Parts: sequence; structure tokens; C-alpha cells
Amino acid sequence: MRILLVEDDSMIGASVQTALQREGFAVDWVRDGIAADTALTGHAFDLVLLDLGLPRQEGGTVLARLRARRDTTPVLILSARDTVADRIKGLNTGADDYLVKPFDLDELIARIHALLRRQAGRADPVIRLGHIAIDPIAKTTLLDSEPVTLSAREFALLMALADHPGAVLSVAQLQEKIYGWDDEVGSNTVEVYIHSLRKKLGTGLIRNVRGVGYVIPKELSE
Ligand code: CA
Repeated sequence: MRILLVEDDSMIGASVQTALQREGFAVDWVRDGIAADTALTGHAFDLVLLDLGLPRQEGGTVLARLRARRDTTPVLILSARDTVADRIKGLNTGADDYLVKPFDLDELIARIHALLRRQAGRADPVIRLGHIAIDPIAKTTLLDSEPVTLSAREFALLMALADHPGAVLSVAQLQEKIYGWDDEVGSNTVEVYIHSLRKKLGTGLIRNVRGVGYVIPKELSE
């Protein structure tokens, strides 16, 4: 899952980025409102963490512009502006949640997981696909109730597909979901991880759609 962090405070930005990377998210960090616009028009993110007081362009404007483009990416506002009026305004501009600074990193992570679940249309925190159960919070995967050990990248790739069964994702889209801008990306790495996931979880889970990409069949989620 790929998150855009929009924050001009270096200390807060660095601590949030580190905490989320440790959680297995790919995190891209921009420090002003114009850079946020550019990132959001050029890339697909699973979620945006948005500060309001930003150089060059206010966070509220970034959010209004995002929604005007009919972009439904979940947005969680992180702001020191803590009045009820500020929070109402943020939510009414199209934010999905609002966390007042200073905040607890564990609460931030829990809210991120809740927003990602809602975006995927799930209420159950565990993703169940046929014989496989994936827990995005505990980062565990069970095959027929037996734990399967996955690397962080394998898990990230599995999550990218498991979050939207039936949606075919291209190799480029999968790469975007598991790597941030600063990560080194080797060639064929997505294919290598898919091969390994199939070996560990069975070949029926991830299907190749020739010339298009990869998909977890929708019927496995039903
Ligand atoms: Ca700020």
C-alpha cells in the first residue's frame, strides 16, 4: 500500500514516514501544497496524510482540488488546528478522518488501517480468500489455518492484490504500490515475488491475465 505524506515539519514527517515504513507501507513524502498536487495528479496512492498549514498552498486547497478531480483516495488530515470548526471544515471539504497534533503513532496506524478497509468495502479486519486468511494489521498469512512466512515485499504485493479481488493490476501498478520513490527497484522483481507467492500459497490464488497483469479471482472473496 502506498501512502502520500504531505507535511512541512521535518521532525513530524520523518517520524511518521519511519513508523509507516516499519508497518510495511511505501511512503512518499512531500513538503508543500504544490508538490502534493503534482504527486497526486501523477501517481496513484492508497491514502493521503495531509497537513493543513503548508508552504505554497494550503492543505485545504490540495484536498478541494483532489475532490474536484473526482479522486476518491482516502484523506486523513493531520493538523494542529484543533477547534471543532477546523475539524468540521476539513471533513466537509472531503477528508475521511481528522487527527489532531500531537497524535499517537499507533492511533494513526490504526486509523489508516480502518480507512483502507472502508475504501476496500470490508468490515472484517481479516481478508479471507478461499483457504487463505490475511491479517493486514498483524501481518500474518494463514493457509488452511497454518501460518505461512512471507517477506515484507511479498506481503506488500499480496496486500495490493488482496485488497481488491477481481481487479487486474499491471506490473507497473503493482510496482507503484510496493515501492516508494526512494526505493531501488530491480527489473522483474514483481514477477519474482509473484512466483514466490504462488509457490507458498498455491497457484490458484494469483492468476496471470496475459498481457495485462495479475489478479486474485473475485470468487475467492465470496
Ligand atoms: Ca504545517
